[in-house]
Amino acid sequence: MVDLLDTAPRNHATPGESARADFPILGTRVGGRALVYLDNAATAQKPLRVLEAITAHYTNANANVGRGYYQLSHLATDVYEQARATVARAINAEHPDEVVFVPGTTAAVNLLADTLGRDLVGAGDQVVVTGMEHNSNLLPWRRLCESVGAELVVVPADEHGSVPAAVFAAALGPRVRLAAVTHVSNVLGTVNPVRDMVAHAHEHGIPVVVDGAQAVPHRQVDVRELGADCYVFSGHKMYGPMGIGVLYGRRALLGTLEPYQVGGGTVKGISTTERVRYVPVPARLEAGTPHIAGAVGLAAAFDYLADLGWDAIRAHDATLVNAAVAAVSDIARVRVVGDPTADPSGIVSVVVDGIHPYDVGGHLDAHGVAVRSGVHCANTFVDTFGVVGTVRLSFGVYNTEAEVEVVRDALRTVQPGFW
Ligand code: PLP
Repeated sequence: MVDLLDTAPRNHATPGESARADFPILGTRVGGRALVYLDNAATAQKPLRVLEAITAHYTNANANVGRGYYQLSHLATDVYEQARATVARAINAEHPDEVVFVPGTTAAVNLLADTLGRDLVGAGDQVVVTGMEHNSNLLPWRRLCESVGAELVVVPADEHGSVPAAVFAAALGPRVRLAAVTHVSNVLGTVNPVRDMVAHAHEHGIPVVVDGAQAVPHRQVDVRELGADCYVFSGHKMYGPMGIGVLYGRRALLGTLEPYQVGGGTVKGISTTERVRYVPVPARLEAGTPHIAGAVGLAAAFDYLADLGWDAIRAHDATLVNAAVAAVSDIARVRVVGDPTADPSGIVSVVVDGIHPYDVGGHLDAHGVAVRSGVHCANTFVDTFGVVGTVRLSFGVYNTEAEVEVVRDALRTVQPGFW
């Protein structure tokens, strides 16, 4: 069989300047200036290795999976399952069947709220979340609670921008059926003590869903070490394609779930008279034609990051986060929100007193710098800081300290009323 995933190390770059050649889009100029792409928390750019894996798939192996009794379909099925195995290995899942391919984090949480959530949560029960959640790991649980008459308990973050495990533990009473927590804040880049939170929840028999969307691009996630019952993330934020993501679930737990959507690929047998029999997970939760090329690209992204080296990625994040915090520290009116340096995860959020974050974003854009300004789909979390929004610098493996200097120089001249 053609090994389209080719897991042999192919990139010899290290994070920073040498990785830039792997990302053709970084050569783009905006308004005559070099693009400084610092919106990686929204979506990361894609290395050639990912782009080539996708092209190779469509060029050599495109067919539908699990449905055709001919060689090309067998090849496509093998490639898809190899991608699943690569992802499972990368996050240290016990078995590839614990990896369900989904469109992204949002889709994964909605799937879980409508299956696991409905199985476990009823009237008078509680679901616990943190005050740091992205709307995608908040609204599905909120809607679930509203629809079954349960209570959503929100555990606030402290002044550093994360939830201490003991504070989380204090919220875990006898009515709690489920907890959903973010690993890394998409607003501040601060990190929750997920392993300890999970351990506390498990003492009460409470399963925990972890939103890893902002963690997987920055650290080697080990789902077993964390103890997470479910761990969800998006491919596009970790240098993989858009439209593909992962719902990891412990096998014993996933196996209890009824299909979220039903249709092609989910049934074992069906007749007009008998009860429908569904296939086991993961196919049971992947109704319809999956995003096969997306899974291939995601596996390539994991391989790319492994070749760069997780220790090097962590060190690079620390360098850039510390450099950014230091760079803005002597600019009047600019302040950093939360403490992104405690466990750097590639995000630094700032506010410029007296200037709307959109104005700051527009000013930076005029200098070629792409950042996200506003509430970052985490309205309730940003509200707790008493600001209308923040300006989020989010770094990737190809960003450099020279780019931090471009941001610093631009922030020195920002004025109100850009728009
Ligand atoms: N959770 C977090 C922490 C995020 O940062 C994001 C995206 O910004 C999401 C969930 C939603 O991800 P997606 O839009 O890929 O479904």
